[in-house]
Formats: sequence, structure tokens, C-alpha cells
Amino acid sequence: MFINSQEFAQEKDQKDELKSFKTEFLFPKHTDGKNVLYLCGNSLGLQPKNAHNALKSELEDWSNWGVEGHFHGKKPWFHYHKFLTDYSAEVVGAKPIEVVVMNQLTVNLHLLMASFYQPEGQRYKIIMEAGAFPSDMYAIESQVKFHGYDYDDAVIEVKPRKGEHTLRTEDILKSIEENSDTISLVFFSGVQYYTGQLFDIKTITEAAHKIGAIAGFDLAHAAGNINVKLHEWNVDFAAWCSYKYLNSGPGNVSGVFINEKHCTNPDTFRLAGWWGYKEDKRFLMERGFIPEPGAAGWQMSNAPVFGMAVHLSSLEIFHRAGINNLRAKSIELTNYLEFILNDVLKKNNDISMQNITPSNPDERGAQLSLLTDKNGKHLFDYLTQNGVIADWREPNVIRVAPTPLYNSFEDIFRLGQLMLAFKI
Ligand SMILES: *Cc1c(COP(=O)(O)O)cnc(C)c1O
Repeated sequence: MFINSQEFAQEKDQKDELKSFKTEFLFPKHTDGKNVLYLCGNSLGLQPKNAHNALKSELEDWSNWGVEGHFHGKKPWFHYHKFLTDYSAEVVGAKPIEVVVMNQLTVNLHLLMASFYQPEGQRYKIIMEAGAFPSDMYAIESQVKFHGYDYDDAVIEVKPRKGEHTLRTEDILKSIEENSDTISLVFFSGVQYYTGQLFDIKTITEAAHKIGAIAGFDLAHAAGNINVKLHEWNVDFAAWCSYKYLNSGPGNVSGVFINEKHCTNPDTFRLAGWWGYKEDKRFLMERGFIPEPGAAGWQMSNAPVFGMAVHLSSLEIFHRAGINNLRAKSIELTNYLEFILNDVLKKNNDISMQNITPSNPDERGAQLSLLTDKNGKHLFDYLTQNGVIADWREPNVIRVAPTPLYNSFEDIFRLGQLMLAFKI
């Protein structure tokens, strides 16, 4: 159903109802003055044009109002997080009360584990994927240490079978069942950063609950990429960053999800700060922490408004495009990418690589991870010199991620043409 031709790609683009969103983003330029072919939204999404005005507006409120901007600004800073709540809930399939934007991702993982990793007696282990993103590994390592355990004893890493690159759900479930009396927390990423595998969040959550454990997810590579349904899937907690698929700029704020059943309970333990205090009494400055109901009661510090303004401008685009529409286009784009890469492999003997991301669209997001051989770095550098921005992950993987907001089918066709012309 796909054809490796420019006409075909252009026809797909013509029919694409989301095609005009591309014009809302700023593209870096290649040395020839043309836009780069940007396939790196999995690492740092492009800048939405509206980010500039959003930021400027807050700078103006600051200059016009000083401290009074907390109440008199166009978007009062006092409850700035509320402007992002509905859009964030939409992106991750949550109820508004279950989400809040605050801090950054790894910090939030720690805060969430303070609430939801509460080892007791023989139930103290954490089960996670082997080869998780380093920050998650370090966070987990220090969490178990903080509670007085040894990493090797307290952390169960699920590994792919010999000769395989991704995890089988059945193997994850088996590990959970085999350790049913000792697991306190089941913690996985949504989409694995290295392999691009999308885990079966719903099934893993069910398995965790069946043994009496908590299910938490790091959605760094899933938010804005796939269609997650955190509330429906009964996930206990999750966190994500805003600068990958969510296009909100380097190092920007993170979102968190805390299931309604936990976040509306004032007795759920959390590390507290003044911004999570009951809003109408926050400035009475009294002793004794009373939380704002919902995930907002996990806020510690007052809102970093400049970053959040940019994030809001980006979330507004997701709201207009619709996460269902984006996911539908994303599946087509990535399927086309896979088709083109297979065609290149057939036709160009100078390229040898293997796509280690699952072929089933239900088991992946936008990204394909290409495991290369000794010429991999050479191929990657060649693509970079020719205006393609993808990324290289040690030891030998090229990650390419077409994103539905600003990539086209013709982009994929052009990538294929460049690869066909590659010579060792
Ligand atoms: C990108 C990413 C991070 C980054 O964490 P920060 O705290 O935002 O620097 C953490 N975990 C995963 C899985 C990621 O993909």
C-alpha cells in the first residue's frame, strides 16, 4: 500500500488534514539555507512560533505589574498551573484533578516515589526494564538506598530474551508473578527511549495491582507521542517531560499524573511545600500542612511561569490538533518510514542495519531505532552532513522519529533518497 516515490509521498501529504501545523514551527537551517530534515522530536521538539509571544506576554506582565502580577497579570501567576491542567489531562487521558505541571522530570520521579514507593517488611522490591534511561536508573538506585536496601537485591530488571532486543509482555508478567510477595513498585517507561518499544501499560498495571503492588510509569517518550489513557488504565502515577514530543523547549517543566484514588486522599503521603497548600488559605502562612485536593497538592514551589508559558503555548497546539488525529497520522508516518528503510536495505548493499523497534504499530510510537554495524557512525555523519537531524545513541543505534505535527511523508521519502545515495 506504500510506494517509494515522490508523487506518492506528496499525495499522502495533500490528503493529510494536519499538514498545516508544520507552518506553526520554526526549523533550524542547514548550510544550504534550507530547513533541516528534522527527525529528532523524540529528543528535543521544535519551537512552536507562538512560544515567543507567550513568553513575551509574561515578561510584559512582570514589567507592568511586578509582584502584583501574581493576581493582576493576564494569567495570574498565583494559580498559573491551572492554565495547563485541562490540556495536560487531554494529552495523557486523565481527569483534570489527576494532573499538575511542576518541577522537572527526574525531580518529580523522586517526589512520586516518596509517595508511592513505601517498602514494608518483605515487600520492598522495584521491578523495571533493564537498560532504562540513566536518570531513571539513578533515581531508583538512590531510592532503594535511601530506604536501606541494596540495588542488586531490591531491583529486579526484566531483560530481553537471548537474541532479542525488546521485552515480551508475557516475560514482564511472569517476573511480576514470580515475585508477587516482594514487589512494592512496578516501574516502567511508556515508550522505551533506546528501542522505541511501547509497553503494554494497561496490562502491566493490572498485573501490578493483582499482586498488591503500585504501578508507575515514566512517560518521557510517550507523552504527546502515543494515546495514553492513564485514568482508564488505572495507573497509580506517572510523570513526563515537556521538551521531547511536547515541544516546550530545553529542560522545561514536567507533568505528573496521580490517580484520583490517591490524589484526592489528603492522607496520601507527599513531601510538601507551600504551593501544594490549600489554595484559599495558602497565604495565611499557618502551621500544619493542609493539601489542595488533587495532584495540585503535590506542588512544592511556586510556578516557574516562563517555562510554563512556553509549555502552555505548545499544549494549545496539541489541543487543536487532537491527540487521536496525531496518533493516527503518526502510525502512518512511521509505517511509511519502516517501508522506505526496508526498500533502502534491499537496494543499497552499503547499508546494513536492523530496525529493533517492534513492527506492530501497537507496540511502538513514532520512533524507529536502527541498530547499525561498524559503518553506522559513518552513515549517521553522512546524514547529518546532508541536513538530516536524527540522533545517535551509544553504542550503535540511530534513532529516527518523524512527528506528526511537523513532519511530512515527503520528509520520509527524502530521507530514503539520501540513504539510497550513501556509499561507504
Ligand atoms: C528524557 C528522559 C529523562 C530526562 O529527565 P530530566 O529530569 O528531564 O532531565 C528522564 N527519563 C526518561 C525515561 C527520559 O526519556
